[in-house]
Amino acid sequence: MKTKIKYRAGVPLPRGIDMLHDPLLNKGTAFTMAERDAFGLRGLLPPHVHTQDEQVSRTLMNLRQLTAPLDKFVALNALHDRNEALFFRVVCDNVDEIQPIIYTPTVGLACQSFGRIFQRPRGLFISAADRGHIKTILRGWPQQAGIIVVTDGERILGLGDQGANGMGIPVGKLSLYTACAGIHPTLCLPIAIDVGTNNETLLNDPFYIGVRHKRITGPAYDELIEEFITAAQETFPGVLIQFEDFANHNAFRLLARYRDRICTFNDDIQGTAAVVLTGILSALRVTGGKLADQRLLFFGAGEAATGIADLVVSAIVAQGIPESAARQVCWLVDSRGLVVKSRTDLAPQKLPYAHEHAAIADFPAVVRALKPTAIIGVAAVGGTFTREVLEDMARINARPIVFALSNPTSKAECTASEAYQGTGGKALFACGSPFDPVTLGGNTLVPRQGNNSYIFPGLGLGVIVSQSRRVTDEMFLAAARTLAALVTEADLAQGSLLPALSRLREISAAIATAVATIAYERGLAGKARPADILADVKSEMYDPRYQSYI
Ligand code: NAD
Repeated sequence: MKTKIKYRAGVPLPRGIDMLHDPLLNKGTAFTMAERDAFGLRGLLPPHVHTQDEQVSRTLMNLRQLTAPLDKFVALNALHDRNEALFFRVVCDNVDEIQPIIYTPTVGLACQSFGRIFQRPRGLFISAADRGHIKTILRGWPQQAGIIVVTDGERILGLGDQGANGMGIPVGKLSLYTACAGIHPTLCLPIAIDVGTNNETLLNDPFYIGVRHKRITGPAYDELIEEFITAAQETFPGVLIQFEDFANHNAFRLLARYRDRICTFNDDIQGTAAVVLTGILSALRVTGGKLADQRLLFFGAGEAATGIADLVVSAIVAQGIPESAARQVCWLVDSRGLVVKSRTDLAPQKLPYAHEHAAIADFPAVVRALKPTAIIGVAAVGGTFTREVLEDMARINARPIVFALSNPTSKAECTASEAYQGTGGKALFACGSPFDPVTLGGNTLVPRQGNNSYIFPGLGLGVIVSQSRRVTDEMFLAAARTLAALVTEADLAQGSLLPALSRLREISAAIATAVATIAYERGLAGKARPADILADVKSEMYDPRYQSYI
């Protein structure tokens, strides 16, 4: 059975120093006297028994004394290696503060320095030299994985090719699955597929952890991925495989190849789409407009842009409108200008959005020509939403939708303050990087991040709990609608198009319930539909508060 896997069910708990060295069981100074007696821990620990709350305070105090984000990352990583429950308590109870350390933006620094800060391996490393042996490697993993996050390290955040150092991303992402949605840590398996790197700095770095050759490509690459996918299915039947930070040329291909064959999704494409659709649905609650009547102009035409556009189309088609009309809502601008029908240089994922129109190279000119209701920045080119563009948007629309989603902050198309100031406070704004509230004309506006972690943890939980055989577009639509329904009138009144991040556990449970419901309704689930799906979801959520071992 995939769910309800409890650590070493039926196996006697270790004793003495082995107990303290097991991060899934260790409680450090919080072992009670009775537990110390029962498991031979007397003398191995200082005499005072602390509560987990005291340990959390101590951890936060020490963390806050560190100034460099990378030092904070290393400290939290070491805690993760020593005491999982305490690590996850710290993350769960302080998501706003800790997420930027264990995930973006600090995880990017961590990947760049991975060889230097390396202490203990976590997850599995599979290299091209392991062809023919991948199943043996997977069998070496000590638990029954329920979810794998896998990267080949070629497009790590906005940092490009980080080779095997990209492992920081699956590790960080799986920590969020556990912290935000309570997916049990023992179900989580991070994997780096090391096919080499074209990053010369890494190839010349004596501390680099990966193989020293250029990336393998073509059939050799595809065969390695195919062996991995097959071996993962055989070793962990029904496992959910999330592709993460693959470069465009592989991400779309692999998703298309595997999405109808196994239980899989790509968060960069599909998770992003769901959270951004949520932001659009919230904005439409304010403007009163219909999705099918919008004109969405994407600056960028990569994984995020085409993923969002595809989900917008699905949402409009679900309202009974033909797909050809739905596609007309979305327009893309790539590095060569507006994506139009006459262009002959377009990658397959852009073709559905290549409409009849004159070619225009310059983004402000595209805005003037198309008069969009929304501009959505996902090209990682900082500062593109200039004062001129924002003023034009405010002239065209009573309430323009402005999403500056590119990361890191230096790549944002505009800041929150620029968006509000440039539109006279009219912009319905969401961002990819965190921005502080902005006070304008006596009003305080609270921009929220279109963070993927609103969606993927709950989606993964719903898939795992229902033992769904596939991850479908309908599930992402349901996730977006569920998240949008959790945006309150008070959120909207302060300009927030997404709920507070501090509600993530509740949000994830709601999204998991919506996703699992679809699995049951569509015959995709591997178990019978429970009477109360939300209660079933909640009963599967890992709680990082210490359990008694007696
Ligand atoms: P990607 O590499 O797949 O796509 C980037 C796209 O930008 C490509 O289509 C490219 O042609 C286009 N581009 C590059 N230079 C351009 C230029 N000068 N003018 C116009 N277009 C240009 O990357 P992605 O995964 O789509 O991510 C893009 C950005 O969005 C990144 O900064 C990423 O951090 C951000 N993002 C944010 C979120 C979020 O906020 N939740 C989610 C995903 C991605």
